[in-house]
Amino acid sequence: MQYTSTRSRCALSAAQVIVKGIAEDGGLFVPDSFPVISEETFQTLTKASYVERAETVLSLFLNDFSPEEIRSCVRGAYIGKFENDEPAPLAEPVPGVNLLELWHGPTCAFKDMALQLLPRLLSVSASKTAPGRTMVILVATSGDTGKAALDGFANVKGTKIVVFYPAQGVSAMQKLQMQTQAGDNVAVCGIEGNFDDAQNGVKAIFADAEIRDLLDRANMDLSSANSINFGRLVPQIVYYVSAYCDLRKTGRIRPGEPFNIVVPTGNFGNILAAEYAKRMGVPVAKLICASNRNNVLTDFIETGVYDRNRPFHTTSSPSMDILISSNLERLLYHLSGNDPYLVRDLMAQLKIGGKYVVPDALKRKIQEEFTAGWCSDEEAAKLIGTLFREQGYLCDTHTAVALKVCREYREKTGDRTPCVVASTASPYKFAPAVLKAAGGGDADGFEAVERLQALTGAPVPGPIAGLRGKPVLHKACIRKDGMEEFLLKFLGIR
Ligand SMILES: *Cc1c(COP(=O)(O)O)cnc(C)c1O
Repeated sequence: MQYTSTRSRCALSAAQVIVKGIAEDGGLFVPDSFPVISEETFQTLTKASYVERAETVLSLFLNDFSPEEIRSCVRGAYIGKFENDEPAPLAEPVPGVNLLELWHGPTCAFKDMALQLLPRLLSVSASKTAPGRTMVILVATSGDTGKAALDGFANVKGTKIVVFYPAQGVSAMQKLQMQTQAGDNVAVCGIEGNFDDAQNGVKAIFADAEIRDLLDRANMDLSSANSINFGRLVPQIVYYVSAYCDLRKTGRIRPGEPFNIVVPTGNFGNILAAEYAKRMGVPVAKLICASNRNNVLTDFIETGVYDRNRPFHTTSSPSMDILISSNLERLLYHLSGNDPYLVRDLMAQLKIGGKYVVPDALKRKIQEEFTAGWCSDEEAAKLIGTLFREQGYLCDTHTAVALKVCREYREKTGDRTPCVVASTASPYKFAPAVLKAAGGGDADGFEAVERLQALTGAPVPGPIAGLRGKPVLHKACIRKDGMEEFLLKFLGIR
């Protein structure tokens, strides 16, 4: 299997696309075809562990990795890192609605599923394409990605990671998670500014030829752990394959029986992974895209018009507060019959005017596979409260958005196909909002965590409980024009 860019034809190996992250033409890397899993293999996987399922799916995409390399990456990522060694269990709080819990990892959000594995894939890829060199991962984060990347890259051979966050723009819990990160190869730094300032600073470093040159002479390459890297998508396909196997195993569906998948969506990475699983033979009926008040994707899927020219809203599901969903580019490529010229044209329109309209044929293809809905903060809070009181199940604000959109879809269409809903964060990760929704009033930080536990009895995940009393190792906070200097100092170059 080879990989190409969504904006022009090329032919690269898996290791090459994982190291490069993004194509030189600005496009995203995609496989030129999709492997199909046979019924016989599904039977085997149904009896297998999560780790074995991951090894099988990865081996279909990473042809230039040896079975030993894949095994060691997968085991390093998932064994001993997740609660009960069960990375993606399926709960069923409401009959017919299966919650795929993706937040049992070290940072309590679904990004762990990919970011525990990506550093290992990157390290092996670099040893194939650029042996002896150090990969320097630069991240600008609004909260979740930074900590998940730090935890994934900490002490991984041949890598260093530097995370910049807006000092006033992350929650108290997110800041503490990052500031307490241990590891010889990690640096964390607050910026006096907002997320855009951090992001712009990182982009400027990537674009700076002089810095690249300095790093090059020190035997280092810059790379990114952002969700545009194909190495983040493959691990996400695994849990949809795994959910299908678990639905079969527990008799909730018969072999081959279709089910719907509902995903709370921001950058379109998680739901795209579900679409990829469908291409590989998982019997998915509808893919349901759930948004918060930043509902640019709902409008797009309903009308074929993508228009980011609208107010940006800060919501109680901040990881979905996004107006440009980068991974949508990959879907446009696949559903247009692999047309890089169309994709290039649409992305140019998006860059210039913030808007594009897809051709009718493409719109129909999108609507055949996808349906969409959105949910306000008030509706999400109401759902959290009701679900907890009636079923005794506590969910976070992002998952609540998906559950609300799922319920509305079922009521509106009468479609009774079983659903898998991606549950993307532990309720304790967004404790203040969840506490309030569950009827516990206002509190922040550890106080919100304690009161939420007292109110609901839901167990506090180890990584959150363990934060208390951890030493703060990273206190740096700099002006936004000091990012280059901070990076070069950390790397020992200046
Ligand atoms: C990142 C994130 C999302 C959005 O996922 P995408 O792949 O960007 O669509 C949803 N929920 C949580 C908790 C997240 O951290």
